[in-house]
Amino acid sequence: MCDSHLPASAEPSATRPEPAGPDVAGLDVSDRSTASAGRPPYAIAGVRIFDGKATLGLGHVVIADGRIVEVSTSGRVPSGMPVHDGGGATLLPGLIDAHMHYLGPPRTDGPRFGVTTEISLVDDPATQQDKERLRRSYAPTPLPSLWSAGWWATVPGGWGSDGAPNVPVLRPGDDPAAFVADRLAEGSDIIKLALEDVGLDGKPIPVLSAAQINGLVAAATRARVPSVAHVSKVSLATTALEAGITGLAHVPVDVEVDPAFLELARSSGAFVTPTLTLMGALSDADDPARAAVITDPRVAPYLSRGQRDLLAAPWGFEDRGRLESAARNVAALHRAGVPIVAGTDSGVPGVAHGVSLIVELELLVGAGLSPSAALTAATSAPADAYGLPGRGRIGPGHRADLVLVNGDPTRDITAMRDVAAVWRNGTRVDRAAT
Ligand SMILES: [Zn+2]
Repeated sequence: MCDSHLPASAEPSATRPEPAGPDVAGLDVSDRSTASAGRPPYAIAGVRIFDGKATLGLGHVVIADGRIVEVSTSGRVPSGMPVHDGGGATLLPGLIDAHMHYLGPPRTDGPRFGVTTEISLVDDPATQQDKERLRRSYAPTPLPSLWSAGWWATVPGGWGSDGAPNVPVLRPGDDPAAFVADRLAEGSDIIKLALEDVGLDGKPIPVLSAAQINGLVAAATRARVPSVAHVSKVSLATTALEAGITGLAHVPVDVEVDPAFLELARSSGAFVTPTLTLMGALSDADDPARAAVITDPRVAPYLSRGQRDLLAAPWGFEDRGRLESAARNVAALHRAGVPIVAGTDSGVPGVAHGVSLIVELELLVGAGLSPSAALTAATSAPADAYGLPGRGRIGPGHRADLVLVNGDPTRDITAMRDVAAVWRNGTRVDRAAT
């Protein structure tokens, strides 16, 4: 919600973003040149497979050179192949956190908790120089794949304009298309708009005009990159949806969404990333949903110093009822058929990379999503929403980013606290806290 904790920037990057749209059949065809060859194939067997959409049943997957090459619920594991025995646990695609932030280079906290892909919605682009190479590579790595927005669009004195000395701002008369072109030149994969007309102190602040919003979204659409909006109010969310925004990076909480808004959201095709774990942190400093997860003995030993510091960081105020308002609106949007995409806002006070997505899944179920729908929101839905090749699904040709959890999270979402193993590019992730 408050993305104002931003670092100082160095020189901007000159890298161009890779196309954001999905490639052929959603597979990693563009990545073959960087495959890490030579690792012997192996199988993960005796697992209940959730493929990103549905449970396929008990079966096995075969992995070679960082890719899934076979998924079976009937055949046998090829003879002589090394096997990781899943013991009846549930295998899922590596999770995707579709709203987080890095104040420096990517860290290992996400993958240690099964979050193998992260979407940073505001960051200093100078700190993300390695992201394109990393997300093409199939080599073993403890780091997540990262897509990032870089600096967002805001106005002088507007939301997030004071997070760092070099935050670019859109002034009256500036060309929104030129602003978007500057972000793409810095390496932004996504164009994010800050649509907030009240500061954290409750006082009015300037915000992008409807004409500026229309110009920014149109320029992003022409460049074939997703556009997303920070919103907390139905009125500004409406302006963004009418402009054709790709998605909302939070859910409006000021009033209950009405049928007209639900129809606009549904017909626009936009997705919504509720960030309920942030709403919980803002609503209550003690945040019972977060506390239940991070004190669980299946979770606590794996929390790093960095995660603990973020989880314990206070906002300094409470906005009681915000989580309830958000959850009510998420339920209505979900019932209306608007795609829900899971995200946390990790990197701000009270919300930490990796572990907070487990909290988010539980809050989404609490808001009325089925456990399978919540898991879809953290796997195939964000892959589809952002066009992330090879991520978010278990299927032949997809990247072998996988998480194995004890129990059946499609029946009891709290099973996601019990991570048994994580694979990134087909190689086991060391889960030890650092
Ligand atoms: Zn954020």
